[in-house]
Amino acid sequence: MSLSEIKSRIAKSESAAGRPSGATKLIAVSKRQPDDVVEAVLKEGHRLFGENQVQEAAGKWPTFRETYPDAKVHLLGPLQTNKARQAIALFDAIHSLDRPKLANTLARLAQEEGTCPDLFIQVNTGEEDQKSGVLLADVDGFVTECRALDLPVVGLMCIPPANEEPSLHFALLAKLAARNGLDGLSMGMSGDYERAVALGATHVRVGSAIFGDRAY
Ligand SMILES: *Cc1c(COP(=O)(O)O)cnc(C)c1O
Repeated sequence: MSLSEIKSRIAKSESAAGRPSGATKLIAVSKRQPDDVVEAVLKEGHRLFGENQVQEAAGKWPTFRETYPDAKVHLLGPLQTNKARQAIALFDAIHSLDRPKLANTLARLAQEEGTCPDLFIQVNTGEEDQKSGVLLADVDGFVTECRALDLPVVGLMCIPPANEEPSLHFALLAKLAARNGLDGLSMGMSGDYERAVALGATHVRVGSAIFGDRAY
């Protein structure tokens, strides 16, 4: 599907939900896509991208940014503390803040570096063992903890369980964010971004619908 088709679907969903046009940002998830495919989307004028791994992003975005200095890149995948300094330098936002140890490390490094990307706290809304993210009962406490560390937490993020209706998880995430006074909602992927927009997503993360299947 073309980028413009996806953007028009987002706009339709915003308007049907009575949300202002442009309320949802489209993150084009470029992980494991060939450079020429990513560059084609940059050439179309799109500037907001998502990556899953620090290593992979470090291999391609410094070069892309020489030509497209205004490109923004968000980290969507899990972050190890030993890569946190590199992540602060590389990304404009991190969507996978999911544990106190990482919060403490980011807070210390943000002090040292004098800057910190916008942060989304990842919530394990389905309470799945194999998935990262804060458990539901821990969300409010973790938000408070991050705020006490002066971290720039802007919102919540979730990846719903594969076999459940995602809308239930999106609605839950929206409720948790509102309860904590957070505006950002990172939710919705290729298969369900229109439903996420309907439920208030401020950032949808769409990969394969834009770029096609990934390399592996
Ligand atoms: C890969 C990925 C996406 C994009 O998935 P698609 O189904 O290709 O749209 C979104 N969010 C996260 C966290 C991802 O890892």
